[in-house]
Amino acid sequence: MSTYKKIYMDNVAGKPVDPRVIDAMMPFIKEFYGNPSSVHSFGYESKKALEEARAKIAKLINAEKAESIIFTSGATESNNMAIKGVAYRNMDKGKHIITSSIEHMSIINPCKYLKTKGFDVTFLPVDKYGLVDLDSLERELREDTILVSIQYANSEIGTIQPIREISQIVHRKNAYLHVDATAANGQIPIDVQKDGIDLLTLSSNDMYGPKGVGALYIRSGVRIEPIIHGGGQERGLRSGTENVPGIVGFGKAAEIAVNEMRAESERLSRLRDKLIKGLLESIPYAFLNGHPTNRLPDNAAVRFSFIEGESILLSLDMMGVAASSGSACTAKTLEPSHVLLAIGLKHEEAHGSVLFTLGRQNTEDDVDYVIQIMPDIVKRLRMFSPLTPKELLG
Ligand code: PMP
Repeated sequence: MSTYKKIYMDNVAGKPVDPRVIDAMMPFIKEFYGNPSSVHSFGYESKKALEEARAKIAKLINAEKAESIIFTSGATESNNMAIKGVAYRNMDKGKHIITSSIEHMSIINPCKYLKTKGFDVTFLPVDKYGLVDLDSLERELREDTILVSIQYANSEIGTIQPIREISQIVHRKNAYLHVDATAANGQIPIDVQKDGIDLLTLSSNDMYGPKGVGALYIRSGVRIEPIIHGGGQERGLRSGTENVPGIVGFGKAAEIAVNEMRAESERLSRLRDKLIKGLLESIPYAFLNGHPTNRLPDNAAVRFSFIEGESILLSLDMMGVAASSGSACTAKTLEPSHVLLAIGLKHEEAHGSVLFTLGRQNTEDDVDYVIQIMPDIVKRLRMFSPLTPKELLG
């Protein structure tokens, strides 16, 4: 069964670093090792590169000024910084936070942690496509609500939220809006000023930059407490010597995204639609997870009744294709993903999900190959599944 094909369609879990990004980083690994906080010329070279990267990232999201970008170690840290930082700095105004039930764990868990510290957290429901219920948002906002955190788009089901509408509702009550744009950045245009976003999480690897780097955009005037204390780097909001090579790579990745996002997102959307259509048309009892049109260009999340997503992944791997399980079971609990349950799927439906996420390296041939091999994989697994109805086997 083995094949020489190697097709990577798990871009949500990690993306290859763009060769142009690697080229930009190399001098800062080999030659320019100065600390950006130092006053000598070695430090100056690093500081200059750091500020250039900051400006490139600010441009990607149309931040009003480069200083609004604070570098972090990645999306998880940025999300923690936004949630805990706003909570601790604004407790005098209130202790209520609103988020959605389909956020990443790096939002959900800091919120749950804050509950143990006396904060009140509301998790908003979503509809069957994963769209946040705006009426619930309006209803749940209170005088003591200090923060609303809603993701730009969901990495597991691809659904894009109506952030501008959400922002208007949130700001009517004078709360801050934090948006986790980890899955969306570099794929869809984000304009923090037009969208009305107060804090925004960005991640480098999700834009073909290196891992271990991210940023938090903080609009001027937003009050936030640091969660990492030390030497006072990053305007005192995130101490610790900056990861200069990583940040330079992140900046280059943002610059490439500014220039190429539009054409690449169109290309990926076409491949995505071909893949989804190909799978749904050739396989009975196959369904799309997430919104049919309002979805990320890279995301083809499909569920197959009567079988386990995990077994499909193993079969795909044997055929040279890397995808991931939409059900994101953890080895310990085997619980299906909270996102799939929140959109109303039953446990067995969630378990039958497979997530293909496309990237710059994928071609139409890759998509054709997956469409070609999937019907047989699903058919064979269904033959062995006790859940498969007899008429489907006949
Ligand atoms: N937010 C979202 C929406 C994500 O998909 C992820 C995972 N890529 C994260 C946050 C956390 O990212 P990281 O593990 O790189 O910190």
